[in-house]
Amino acid sequence: MAKDKCIADFLFEQGFNTPPSERVARETLIAGGLTNSTKRNICSDKLRRAQEMLALSLFRACSDHRCQLLATLEAGTRRVVTVADAGCQLCGGKKARRSVAWAAYRLGLMGINRVLVIGGTPAEHDEISKHVRSRGSGRDRGRGGSPGQAAMEFRFVDGTRPGRASEAAAALMRWADLVVIWANAPLKHSVSATYAACAAGCREHARLVYASCTGAAAMLDQVVSGIA
Ligand SMILES: [Zn+2]
Repeated sequence: MAKDKCIADFLFEQGFNTPPSERVARETLIAGGLTNSTKRNICSDKLRRAQEMLALSLFRACSDHRCQLLATLEAGTRRVVTVADAGCQLCGGKKARRSVAWAAYRLGLMGINRVLVIGGTPAEHDEISKHVRSRGSGRDRGRGGSPGQAAMEFRFVDGTRPGRASEAAAALMRWADLVVIWANAPLKHSVSATYAACAAGCREHARLVYASCTGAAAMLDQVVSGIA
């Protein structure tokens, strides 16, 4: 026999983690006929329908201005509900994920979809790649609610290893719409010099910017606020 579940717990688990957002979610379930205003519990065989109803009707975003703006673009017909960070569908409370989403949007508006980052550690590169992948596969975009931009791609050059041959550097530079020299991260002079020389020797090279902030999120924010 199906057991009951506390509605407040269920809604919290679904990311409606503030009293106002929980209220909106509960009203949505009431309007959909899945509960009423006096019930504390919901039968567990209704949970899947409740989950679907919430996903179709509401879009959760934290109070960060970037997530709020992206939410209005991605929500489509869904109502945007402000939640605490961990429940945000865009960042999940993770700074780097938010910065990747924002960079993809702002740079995408400028036609920049391929970014080459020179410098930084493999761990920092992995962090950015992970959030780029989660944007590509995990998001439930609203019908017609997508910003309609091409997917963002990153490539990285490990700044701790010796500089690559200039032909390899030139090929990467041709691929990129934007090249970021991440100077504050681990970066051997031979690496940055290879790319700087390549940029200087080629008139058609991608736009080149320098970043000095520590950490993937801060670096992306610096790049975006500097050029977008
Ligand atoms: Zn957020």
